[in-house]
Amino acid sequence: MTSIEKEGIKMDDCFYKIIEIRSLTDETFSLILPKARFPFKPGRHISLRIHGNHRSREYSIYSGAFDENLEVLVKEVENGYFTPRLRKLKAGDLLEIHGPFGKFGIDKMTAEAGKFVFIASGTGIAPFRSMIRTYPEINYTLIHGVRESAEAYDREEYAADRYVLCTSRDLKGDYVGRLTGYLKICSFAPETQFYICGNSNMIFDALDILKNKGFERDQIHCEVYF
Ligand SMILES: Cc1cc2nc3c(=O)[nH]c(=O)nc-3n(C[C@H](O)[C@H](O)[C@H](O)COP(=O)(O)OP(=O)(O)OC[C@H]3O[C@@H](n4cnc5c(N)ncnc54)[C@H](O)[C@@H]3O)c2cc1C
Repeated sequence: MTSIEKEGIKMDDCFYKIIEIRSLTDETFSLILPKARFPFKPGRHISLRIHGNHRSREYSIYSGAFDENLEVLVKEVENGYFTPRLRKLKAGDLLEIHGPFGKFGIDKMTAEAGKFVFIASGTGIAPFRSMIRTYPEINYTLIHGVRESAEAYDREEYAADRYVLCTSRDLKGDYVGRLTGYLKICSFAPETQFYICGNSNMIFDALDILKNKGFERDQIHCEVYF
């Protein structure tokens, strides 16, 4: 019996063997893992730990709740502790996974009734892909802010008229500039529910813009990555 099993946690429950590492850009990749052994609402996150290393980090679930595989989307942070190590892993390596955690996300009933605007910076798109894959009929607009158009991760999966790419460092976006610039010139239906995910500076700016447009705080849901 391993020390983990002695603590009452069955090895099989939390260890996942990496099936594939999908490279999306020079810095960003996704880890494809066996199907989640836990139910989750799209939008939730999990904690990852590399086998043999005690440190963990949180990642939103990138796959849909009914997908064959569990997937997370990761950007390697220069001089970061965890992501350069994660990047070096190969298919067959073991990851320890705990979760799901958090309150960010939507359930089936809400998804069927609502009108949604999803606002993401960078890998903050992860929970929205999970929501859209889980509820393909959902009425959404996804506004994705990145530096360069190469970071439009899996763009082809989204309906062209529902995905707006904002690029701040090249001219290839649907909107050229920061996503907050795009938000300022948009108008939204009064009943819209907003979900925002990514870095805190973007989230604070987006909150201000939406509040100035007259939306109530309880219409705006946030998930901060850093
Ligand atoms: C609920 C939650 C969900 C998250 N989901 C995801 C996800 O789906 N995908 C993902 O890539 N990250 C996600 N993160 C961030 C992730 O947990 C790590 O913080 C990130 O991968 C950096 O880890 P690190 O050890 O390499 O860097 P660290 O050594 O911990 O940090 C180095 C510095 O990098 C900055 N930093 C952290 N993340 C980024 C980033 N993406 N881009 C630029 N700078 C950054 C931080 O400000 C920090 O000061 C999530 C965080 C939270 C709290």
